[in-house]
Amino acid sequence: MSARALITGITGQDGAYLARLLLDKGYTVFGLQTRRGTDTLWRLRYLDVLERITLIDGDVTDTSSMIRALTRAEPAEFYNLGAQSFVATSWDQPQLTAQVTGLGALNALEAVRLTNPEIRFYQASSSEMYGQAKTEPQREDTPFHPRSPYAVAKLFGHWITVNYRESFGLHATSGILFNHESPLRGLEFVTRKVTNAVARIKLGKLSEVRLGNLEARRDWGFAGDYVDAMWRMLQQEQPGDYVVATGRTMSVREMCRVAFEHAGLDPESHVTVDPAFYRPAEVDVLRGDYAKIKRELGWEPSTTMEEMIGAMVDADLKRVAAEG
Ligand code: NDP
Ligand code: GDP
Repeated sequence: MSARALITGITGQDGAYLARLLLDKGYTVFGLQTRRGTDTLWRLRYLDVLERITLIDGDVTDTSSMIRALTRAEPAEFYNLGAQSFVATSWDQPQLTAQVTGLGALNALEAVRLTNPEIRFYQASSSEMYGQAKTEPQREDTPFHPRSPYAVAKLFGHWITVNYRESFGLHATSGILFNHESPLRGLEFVTRKVTNAVARIKLGKLSEVRLGNLEARRDWGFAGDYVDAMWRMLQQEQPGDYVVATGRTMSVREMCRVAFEHAGLDPESHVTVDPAFYRPAEVDVLRGDYAKIKRELGWEPSTTMEEMIGAMVDADLKRVAAEG
């Protein structure tokens, strides 16, 4: 029998890449699909995996639906990626963010505990938990200082994962992933907002893009590399916590320059700063140290920021051109 896996958040960026990775490794893949009024399957179609997976209705705020999904899928591995994942929205919908992004992790762990405590569990933790970190680069033992309701919710998800590992001996792992992007990133995140705008400007459909804080710095990696890190974490005998990052940092301003210049455009002529996109509390800089996962699991990033941003611009140019 092939290995079986269940993924929450399978319709998101990472869920789609992880589903493809697991299918390529011969897994039988199940995904929890939350009922929405709109089509959320475009990423699964884009990577050509929709027909090769089984979707099960459910929601991370509904523990009984996850118990049903686990009972049906009988997975050896359970990846909890489902979240309200956009930091800016978390100030407008803080309680929803706490329910989905925070309590959702507890619900998933409870579902594991109640159905089969042997299931290996992955929690999608975030570098946002470091927030206003006092030291750089951030590693597994760097103290957390979350700066948004999203980050606070993720911190709960992280610690409850650690706690269930320590309390009940679950094979529960928390991957502290720094920002990672791809052509499948949501349009609200700054990289994709910029690469999509670059494509529209290049093709004469837009004249400018309005952004917030251009000085914020992030450690941006490629999502395809990061789902491989998730998988590696669940293959080891002992669970643990791992930082996944590139170790490099770039400002939003520099990222814009890379994206615009890739399309032969000048960012100065097309980027406008709009205070509407400033956040109530900012995370100025994040840079991760991936030494532990490199040492223990042999993981390293394979894609530079420049390559990734270039690939995102190319994919958006193709997409926008196809719109006609
Ligand atoms: P996305 O926003 O692309 O995907 C989020 C997924 O969660 C979607 O499939 C969404 O479903 C699903 N979801 C939302 N609400 C619920 C719910 N109530 N119950 C079940 N599923 C739900 O995020 P990414 O793929 O980029 O990220 C994956 C995970 O990793 C998230 O937990 C994110 O917070 C975390 N993370 C991401 C980082 C990044 O840079 N990408 C960095 C660190 C952590 P739907 O399509 O129906 O809305
Ligand atoms: P985050 O790190 O998870 O919040 O990822 P985002 O891509 O949403 O934001 C990364 C950084 O870009 C943050 O510091 C934002 O303040 C900054 N930023 C500047 N302008 C924008 C914008 O217009 N949209 C978004 N999403 N972020 C912006």
